Amino acid sequence: MAKQLEASEQHRREVLKALMCLVIFAGLLFGVINIFRELYVLSALEFAYAAFSLHLLRFIGTTERLRFWTVIFLLPLFSLMIFAVLLPRTSFTVFAWVQTIPIICYLLLGLRTGLFMSAAFVGLGVLGFNYRYMTEASLFNIVIVANVGLSSMAMMLFSHVYERSRVDNEQRLLDLASTDGLTGLANRMKLADVFERERSHALRDNRPLSLVVLDLDHFKRINDQFGHDGGDQVLRHVAALLPTRLRETDLFCRLGGEEFALLLPGADLSRAAELADSLREHLCATPLQLEGGLVNLSFSAGVASLGEDGCSLDQLLQTADRRMYEAKGGGRNQVVAAGQHYSLSR
Ligand code: GH3
Ligand code: MG
Ligand code: MG
Repeated sequence: MAKQLEASEQHRREVLKALMCLVIFAGLLFGVINIFRELYVLSALEFAYAAFSLHLLRFIGTTERLRFWTVIFLLPLFSLMIFAVLLPRTSFTVFAWVQTIPIICYLLLGLRTGLFMSAAFVGLGVLGFNYRYMTEASLFNIVIVANVGLSSMAMMLFSHVYERSRVDNEQRLLDLASTDGLTGLANRMKLADVFERERSHALRDNRPLSLVVLDLDHFKRINDQFGHDGGDQVLRHVAALLPTRLRETDLFCRLGGEEFALLLPGADLSRAAELADSLREHLCATPLQLEGGLVNLSFSAGVASLGEDGCSLDQLLQTADRRMYEAKGGGRNQVVAAGQHYSLSR
């Protein structure tokens, strides 16, 4: 999931780079035009801002503080727009730039900051516009406020609604991509994500982290006897039953087929093996009633621990998998951890 979020940040980086190129071009163009119009302060500010943007453009593609530099880039840009609106000799069409503020803010900074920043600068822009074009006729003033104010609000509203639904859809896709459709458990992708986080906590706090791979015994027979739907019900039963014995920080996920994994932060090899064995007992003691009869269930499991059995998820999965096959070879319905077999209460 972290990778997907990184992709979303990369998207913002590209939008920001494109905006910077446009702003550099516009800054140079208006800088030159405003010299001829004798708007020297504005022209100097536009040149300075174009140079500043050029400087930012050199490292914006790689910086890790993208959000910080985005704000540093946008604050003077929006201030310059408001300043240009307020100057007596600029064209009123300068206000068209103010109307791009909500889109830029929401696209680059997301919902919350987008809302605050666009409300503040669009508000200032509308006030500035009204201040410049205030006339004696109050009815005409109302028309100005209504036109400029309402069209700006429309831009804000559309940007907000668009960003809101984009964020919701992104979250829905991320949830979908990290969940197993049949059981509702986390899937392998989610495991990889949580493992990275838990590994860095474990290394930082010098705490153990263990992984259990478990595979249901003789599942093919269940499918043969109760049909594929019966097999699916068994998978859902296991997915609902075993997590009830786990802590919130433990992650139980489905790797695929009738194979599951259990990530146990804070548990060393023997603690993880004992826990896996208690789950094994619990499953044995909780058969599932299907239409065709009672289904007795068991699993074989292998345990591996961070450090002694490797440092990456792949290494731990490989070791736990090998031990799970040792458990199968040892007669199934047992847990194996570093040569030790846990099936004492079988
Ligand atoms: P062992 O004790 O050695 O693990 O034997 P087993 O029969 O459990 O193992 P095997 O891996 O040979 O069989 C697993 C079966 O699980 C084969 C496949 O048809 C079935 N299966 C895989 N995914 C699903 C699923 O989503 N639903 C159902 N019902 N069956 C599945
Ligand atoms: Mg099996
Ligand atoms: Mg299997």
